[in-house]
Amino acid sequence: MIDVATFGETMAALRASDPIRLGGTMRLSVAGAESNVAIGLARLGHRVRWTGLVGADETGELVLRTLRAEGVDVSHARSDGRGPTGLILFERRIGDLTRVIYHRAGSAASYLATGDVLPALDPAPRLLHVTGITPALGPGPAAAVGAAVRTAAEAGVRVCLDVNHRSRLWSRDAAAEVLRPLASRLSVVIASDDELELVAPASAATEQDRVSALLDAGVSEVVIKRGADGATGHTLAETLHAKARRVPVTDLVGAGDAFVAGHLSGLLDGLDLAGRLERAVTAGAFAVASPGDWEGLPTRAELGLLDALPGSTLR
Ligand code: ATP
Repeated sequence: MIDVATFGETMAALRASDPIRLGGTMRLSVAGAESNVAIGLARLGHRVRWTGLVGADETGELVLRTLRAEGVDVSHARSDGRGPTGLILFERRIGDLTRVIYHRAGSAASYLATGDVLPALDPAPRLLHVTGITPALGPGPAAAVGAAVRTAAEAGVRVCLDVNHRSRLWSRDAAAEVLRPLASRLSVVIASDDELELVAPASAATEQDRVSALLDAGVSEVVIKRGADGATGHTLAETLHAKARRVPVTDLVGAGDAFVAGHLSGLLDGLDLAGRLERAVTAGAFAVASPGDWEGLPTRAELGLLDALPGSTLR
């Protein structure tokens, strides 16, 4: 049985250590919010399926090969010649400030349709994870997210949404119009503090109102990511804050996806809210303290590494 099914766009990712306009060397990898979560969960020992469309091109092969190598089931993913595999460029500009440049309009993933994702939910997984990026890719992907959420919820599968607003893909109003109607079918909502209003009812004025409205609508758990300030988790029974782990910042991109992987891993393991948040901030810290979106994510055996004394050598 698949523990977590997810789907979305995964792109070829090029990382430049110098400003791109100056040229130089780039490192090739892959990146996508949902596949980052999938890799994080697979490393923690869960059975994960990622579904999506890549171009009929070599970077598409790289995406599928990478996910396979990480132990992610890609049996329902496929290449589609209508568009290329998307491309994302990362440029370290100053200090830990990263600039992200997308070439994803018209990509293969923008053709994703309901018929591509529903078969991947049969037999039903334990959890479905979606992000607010996928419905911003176009009408087909938006319909696929709506249908997948509806199908999963009706089958009793818990659904997690990471709001993940991408302002270059769509406006806040457009996102809210699509995401708010999903709320009553969600079990877990994960959002940054400025994203919660995109899924909570417009009438809710404060963060507490938004959390209460979501819990009243049937969401089991609302988790707010607060960067270096950690995260807050709310259920009907309790509210808990988890501090971020103190780590040297190497690369902030991907922290949110790592956090989601840690949190869902805790949920699958039956941990309580404190345990789920602890695993989430631990996974987030691994992403922050290592280069790349997902490359530094921990295996289950490595979760305790952050407790090693600074400067120690593991033998
Ligand atoms: P992104 O979209 O860049 O992946 P996000 O905005 O979705 O990130 P953040 O709130 O930045 O998510 O980070 C998610 C989690 O990662 C935080 O809740 C925290 O636990 C951890 N984290 C983020 N920044 C730091 C940091 N500087 N030090 C330690 N942990 C961090």
